[in-house]
Amino acid sequence: MRRVYFDHSATTPIDTAVVDAMTPYLTEYFGNPSSFHSYGREVRKAVEAAREKVALAIGADPKEITFTSGGTESDNMAIHGVAYMNKNKGNHIITSAVEHHAVLNTVKALGKEGFDITILPVDKYGMVNPDDVAAAITDKTILITIMHANNEIGTIQPVKEIAAIAKARGVYVHTDAVQSFGKIPLNVDDLGVNLLTLSAHKFYGPKGVGVLYIRKGTRWKQTLMHGGSQERLRRTGTENVPGIIGLAKAAEIVSANLQKEQDYLTKLRDKLIKGVMDNIDKVILTGHPTQRLCNLASFCFEYIEGESQLLSLDMKGIAASSGSACTSGSLEPSHVLMALGLTHEIAHGSLRLSLGKDNTEEDVDYFLEVLPAVVQRLRMMSPLAEDVPEMEEFMEGVRCGV
Ligand SMILES: *Cc1c(COP(=O)(O)O)cnc(C)c1O
Repeated sequence: MRRVYFDHSATTPIDTAVVDAMTPYLTEYFGNPSSFHSYGREVRKAVEAAREKVALAIGADPKEITFTSGGTESDNMAIHGVAYMNKNKGNHIITSAVEHHAVLNTVKALGKEGFDITILPVDKYGMVNPDDVAAAITDKTILITIMHANNEIGTIQPVKEIAAIAKARGVYVHTDAVQSFGKIPLNVDDLGVNLLTLSAHKFYGPKGVGVLYIRKGTRWKQTLMHGGSQERLRRTGTENVPGIIGLAKAAEIVSANLQKEQDYLTKLRDKLIKGVMDNIDKVILTGHPTQRLCNLASFCFEYIEGESQLLSLDMKGIAASSGSACTSGSLEPSHVLMALGLTHEIAHGSLRLSLGKDNTEEDVDYFLEVLPAVVQRLRMMSPLAEDVPEMEEFMEGVRCGV
C-alpha cells in the first residue's frame, strides 16, 4: 500500500545529511565539551561552530544562542526567565489564545503564581490584531509572547508589528518560531523580538534539541534547573552534542533551500486545498487564506468526527492529524479551533495536512482520490447527518438496503 506522510507539523523525518553530520559525534568524538583535554576540546570546537551556524541562520550573534532540549523547554525558559527577572518592574504578561501549549500552559502556570495574564483573542482566521496588543499593554507589562506561525492552522502572526509596538513601550517580546523556521525567512533583527524558540525535529533535525535565542541586553535569567555552568549559565547540564551538531546542519540546509522549498510546498499545498474545496461539500479551510505557512492545509468537515477520519485515512496509508499531536487522544476540541469561533461540532471535524519536502504531487493525488469515499462513508454513519436533508435521503436508501 502507498504510504503518505502528511504530518510534518508534528515532526519531520531526519535528513540523511543531518544523520551523516551527527554520526561522528555518536562514535569517534565522544568527549565532554567541558573537559580540558583534547577529547573535550575537539567537541567544544564543534559545538561552537554549530552555534555560529545557527546564529547565521537567524541573523543573531553566536552569544545569543542557547541550546536546549527542544521547543517546549525553550518556551518555558523564555517565559519564566523574563517573568522572574523582571518582577520588580511588573507582573503582566500578554499572550494569545492560539499559542502552543508549551507557551499557553507556562503562562497560565505563572497566572497561578500571581502574575497577571492577558490572553488575547484572534479573528476568524486565527490572527492577532496588533491594535489589541497595544491596547492590552499597561505599565506593569513585562512580556508579550505571540507565536510566529500557528502549528494547527498555519496562520502567520504580525510579529514584526507587535514587536515594534512593544519596543516603543519598553516591553519584551518572545516568539515561538518552531513552525516558521525553514518555511518563511526569519531574522531576529527584522522581527525585532527579544527571545525566540526553535526546535530541530520540526525542520528535519533530530528530536530532543532546540534553541532559545536571547537578545543581548535582555533581562533574563535561567531559573528552572540548578547545576553546572554550561551554556554560559543559561542551560545547565552536559550538552546534547550529537543533537546540537544535527540541529545546526539541519538549520544550514533549510536556510540554503528556503526559497526553493517554499515555492515547491506552496504549489503542493494549493493543489491540495483546491482539490479538497472543489470536491467535498460542507468543508471550510481553517486559518488565514493567504497569510499561512506554505506547507499547511487545515480544514473542518461538517458532520465528520475527526478521529474517525484520521483512522480511515490511516487505513489507506495516509498519516494526518486532527490538530496538534498533543490534542489528539483527548476529547476536548482544539483550543485553537475554538478560538476561531467555531462550534464544538465543527471543530471536532478538523483535519490538518502538513506537507514536507519529500512529498510529491502523486501523494496529493492519492489523498484526493481517497478522501471523497472516506468523507461519504463517515457522513453516512454520523448521527448528526440525519439533520442534513441530502444526507437524510442517502440514509433512507441505506436503511432500505438499496
Ligand atoms: C512542536 C512545537 C513545540 C514543541 O517543541 P518540542 O521540541 O516538541 O518540545 C512548540 N511550539 C510549537 C509551535 C510546536 O509546533
